[in-house]
Amino acid sequence: MEGSRIRASFDLDASGKHRGYLTVPWSRDDSAWGSIQMPITVVRNGRGPRLLLLAGNHGDEYEGPIALMKLAAALEAEAVRGVVTILPTMNHPAVLAARRTSPIDGGNMNRVFPGARGGSPTAMIAHFVYHQLVARADVVVDLHSGGKTLDFVPSVILHELDDPLLMQRTIEAGLAFGAPLALVIRELDTEGMLDVAVEALGKLFVTTELGGGGSTTPARVAIAERGVRNLLRHLGVIDGAPEAPDPPSRLMQTPAGGFVVCRTAGMFEPQVELGARVEKGAPLGQVHFFEDREQEPHCYAAPCAGMLYARHFPGLIKRGDCLAVIAAKKAAAP
Ligand SMILES: [Zn+2]
Repeated sequence: MEGSRIRASFDLDASGKHRGYLTVPWSRDDSAWGSIQMPITVVRNGRGPRLLLLAGNHGDEYEGPIALMKLAAALEAEAVRGVVTILPTMNHPAVLAARRTSPIDGGNMNRVFPGARGGSPTAMIAHFVYHQLVARADVVVDLHSGGKTLDFVPSVILHELDDPLLMQRTIEAGLAFGAPLALVIRELDTEGMLDVAVEALGKLFVTTELGGGGSTTPARVAIAERGVRNLLRHLGVIDGAPEAPDPPSRLMQTPAGGFVVCRTAGMFEPQVELGARVEKGAPLGQVHFFEDREQEPHCYAAPCAGMLYARHFPGLIKRGDCLAVIAAKKAAAP
């Protein structure tokens, strides 16, 4: 296990329940010997699966951190078989600033894995997570949401994997989570992602998009909390069977061409509710050119039939923003 400059306030391998902090050294103008202190909880009891539960990879996503803080407070060692390590605010400086990326170094945590021991805080935290926490885990769960700029139908995200056995285990775990959707995707840009760094080690990895818009709702927090507990049950870490959602999770995928990228800057008018069924060519939204009264709004149509899975959230939009994503029923494997 590679050494880190980050120190834990307790022995990460000790039995029982331990709650404390990770100290990230950060000497700066307003605090010469200062540090960043991030809460961490480890619950360990005998032999069993070793789970690493992460949230706050991006600092403006809330379902994951809230669900994990509540779990960290509630989970007792006697109820656990194995290890549950909980880090609810992984990019802590970004969470403090309610921003996707770190205000210290601009770091997008999910683009810097496996990190750097002597790097800036974002890279240093990624290095600790990869070399100290992922190394101690068999299963890694990283809870995301859409943040301030996207809104999603609450979903588990599973990646297309070349290893059929790991793919099968991933789909089973994703369905056990019990979000309204389980979406199988192939990532567009995988460089530096925690997801691929974990999957390359052959470990089970589950991620989510549980909402967005830079806030949350009671229903979405409930999906996150039930999902994490369902995973613990599915993997045999705590007793009981996963609670099945009603209606059951739908297994879907993003078809080729299902991403709609904005080509115009202006004011965004969504024309379809999130989760609604759309036919190919149906209007998804339009962009109004509020500075030019003579220019007609630009309409964006659904590139294929399916469900409106994600949409741009803020009122203003610009060229290159993700405007919408369509999901469709997962095709059977060939
Ligand atoms: Zn995220």
